Amino acid sequence: MGLFNFAVDKNKKLDRDPTLYNQMPNGLFIDCPYCGERFYEKQLGPAKVCPNCGYGFRLTAHERLALLTTHFVEMDKNIKATKTDFPGYAQKLARAKHQTQMNEAVLTGIATMQGRRIALGIMDTHFIMGSLGAAVGEKITRLFERALKERLPLVLFTASGGARMQEGINSLMQMAKISAAVAEFQAAGLFYLVVLTDPTTGGVTASFAMQGDVILAEPHALVGFAGRRVIEQTVQEKLPADFQRAETLLKSGFVDQVVAREDLPATISRLVAMHGGKS
Ligand SMILES: [Zn+2]
Repeated sequence: MGLFNFAVDKNKKLDRDPTLYNQMPNGLFIDCPYCGERFYEKQLGPAKVCPNCGYGFRLTAHERLALLTTHFVEMDKNIKATKTDFPGYAQKLARAKHQTQMNEAVLTGIATMQGRRIALGIMDTHFIMGSLGAAVGEKITRLFERALKERLPLVLFTASGGARMQEGINSLMQMAKISAAVAEFQAAGLFYLVVLTDPTTGGVTASFAMQGDVILAEPHALVGFAGRRVIEQTVQEKLPADFQRAETLLKSGFVDQVVAREDLPATISRLVAMHGGKS
């Protein structure tokens, strides 16, 4: 039997004989981490959205960029983390660079979206979980400074596991550093738009991810500070299933709108235009 026939009929067959999973080649099927449905990977399309529940699978920064625009001039590509003596950090950095072909966990630059110039930042969880190290902090700060100088709106896609513990206190200082740059940018009357993607947690949530003038989120994105297990252990209570999801944050007022991935370019362009973005 060809693989294609196997894929089309997968649900029935897998129900009957779970050992068939073992015969599948790697990468053919993918499970949605939110709803648990299993799909033929090609069904997700370039936007990588679950056909069942609309969850947006994690994208690399370059995959994300390709969905938004083809007009992008990257900034500060060569800013790199300074190695610390934390055991294994140098090797971890080398591996992340090799796997992502990026020097750090955020891509920054000037983009044109639907005819309008914006400063654009995209964090990437494939690089040490998008953790906020000194180089990430410097790149995002410089993006705000450039946008302030040129009076451009700034759009930032957040995705992060939080502070980069291998850099210790230097990592924590980035929260204050970026927040100061955000404050200066906003005091000048410029527009800062955040798009929360799965997952945005820890120090990133505790600082610049929550400082946007408008905060959007992708469907079912996990957004929080501490993890579920830590909170459950602390409060000694079982938390609801939708805890720390974009829809819950919308209800409680932390998020302004949950927007499907395919609608983001149009929504971002409209918001930028409404807030004085120039073409
Ligand atoms: Zn799903």
